[in-house]
Amino acid sequence: MQPTFYKLSVMDTIQIKDKQFTVSIKEQEIQKEVIRVANEINRDLAGQNPIFLSVLNGSFMFTADLMKHITIPCEISFIKLASYQGVASTGTIKEVMGLNEDITGRTIVIVEDIVDTGLTMQRLLETLGTRSPKEIHIASLLVKPEKLKVELDIKYVAMNIPNDFIVGYGLDYDGYGRNYPDIYTVID
Ligand code: 5GP
Repeated sequence: MQPTFYKLSVMDTIQIKDKQFTVSIKEQEIQKEVIRVANEINRDLAGQNPIFLSVLNGSFMFTADLMKHITIPCEISFIKLASYQGVASTGTIKEVMGLNEDITGRTIVIVEDIVDTGLTMQRLLETLGTRSPKEIHIASLLVKPEKLKVELDIKYVAMNIPNDFIVGYGLDYDGYGRNYPDIYTVID
């Protein structure tokens, strides 16, 4: 049998609005790490009947791929973080929308696209903590360790990345670029 012939991507560089981006993490690498994270969760949370809370919009692709490889009984729900009116510019005060489940006594896994300073995640943990869950775990597709401003126990990380702005695989630049299966880094 002939080996598969892999075509080189014709989209190594993309333009979104005023910025150019170059491919930095290919789909196959992302999928490999997502499956590894799913397996870790399957092993650690077996018998705990977790609720996965997917943080929209950015984590929609990560959530879909991750969940295909979760084999333990679980529920999934989607939440959105909205900045309070008037203080959106600070970017740190967020309201949790769409959480209708009773999470009292439940094991929660937050599914997030990227942790940058960690302020968004800290705020989310505080809010969820008031609803008496049994425990809260964080699963983040990406973490920028050099930018973290707060101490967070991020148990499940698919990939650590440097301090650059990225798009693709759910992440956007000004609303665009979420649809790409690869991750792209901005070219300065
Ligand atoms: P934090 O509160 O951790 O500083 O920011 C987290 C949020 O900032 C993420 O959920 C995401 O919306 C946005 N963000 C941080 N870094 C990037 C990046 O490199 N690319 C994109 N598209 N969004 C980012």
